[in-house]
Amino acid sequence: MVTLGIDIGSTAAKAVVLKEEQLTYHLMPTGWSPKSTGEELCKEVLKKANVRKEELTRIVATGYGRETVDFADKTVTEITCHARGAAYLGQGADMVIDIGGQDSKVIKIDSAGRVIDFIMNDKCAAGTGKFLEVIATSLGLDVSELDKFAQTEDFVSINSMCTVFAETEVISLLAKGVTKDKIVGGLHDSVAKRVANMAKKLGVGSKIIFTGGVSLNEAMRISLLNHLQTEIISPPMSQFAGAIGAALIAKG
Ligand code: ADP
Repeated sequence: MVTLGIDIGSTAAKAVVLKEEQLTYHLMPTGWSPKSTGEELCKEVLKKANVRKEELTRIVATGYGRETVDFADKTVTEITCHARGAAYLGQGADMVIDIGGQDSKVIKIDSAGRVIDFIMNDKCAAGTGKFLEVIATSLGLDVSELDKFAQTEDFVSINSMCTVFAETEVISLLAKGVTKDKIVGGLHDSVAKRVANMAKKLGVGSKIIFTGGVSLNEAMRISLLNHLQTEIISPPMSQFAGAIGAALIAKG
């Protein structure tokens, strides 16, 4: 049995082929046309996995753009797929914290990766990758560089709740001569605090798996740890949790 999981996120589109317990991954920016991105993504991941489309038993699509994947056999919500994929990656985890491009979510899961409860923020950019991207740009940095510049203890607080005001606050801190690493530390703390509050509302788990593109940022994991004081892991390929979950659900 060969299955394909496709996660069309608001920022990044991810695909996973599952063949004989072997996973093959591919990622592309979602861009302006989620439909053509989904088609291209499918072609590329099949090429990497050395699988023909006709060999696929089942395709499950998830994520914000899942309805545009018209060649999928089924669409499944991202909460369900993330929970399943995160449980696979983080054996024994009872909570998922996912910080993506334009949303963040906290999901309580059982050992089979079933959803017990969840909270999602998709209304406000603060507490998402977008917030980090905007501020990184005003600091002349790429998001992938943020963890190299982050002071996880001695940082300045960023108080603005709104992304636009936070950008102004950062520019004025720079003008006062505050170093980038103190500002980036404060930026991470601000995102971590918001997301940690979501986790606290659900009741903090004993083992948390941190997923989504922002989980590539190790300093963010440490900031979350500062707020939650519990085990937080981020295994390789955590950005693919949704697509892995979709491929596993497709397998049945
Ligand atoms: P979505 O599924 O919501 O489209 P992802 O979970 O794939 O998003 O995350 C995408 C976000 O991850 C980007 O917007 C960016 O902020 C962040 N990101 C991507 N790569 C990195 C990296 N190397 N370091 C830190 N953050 C990253």
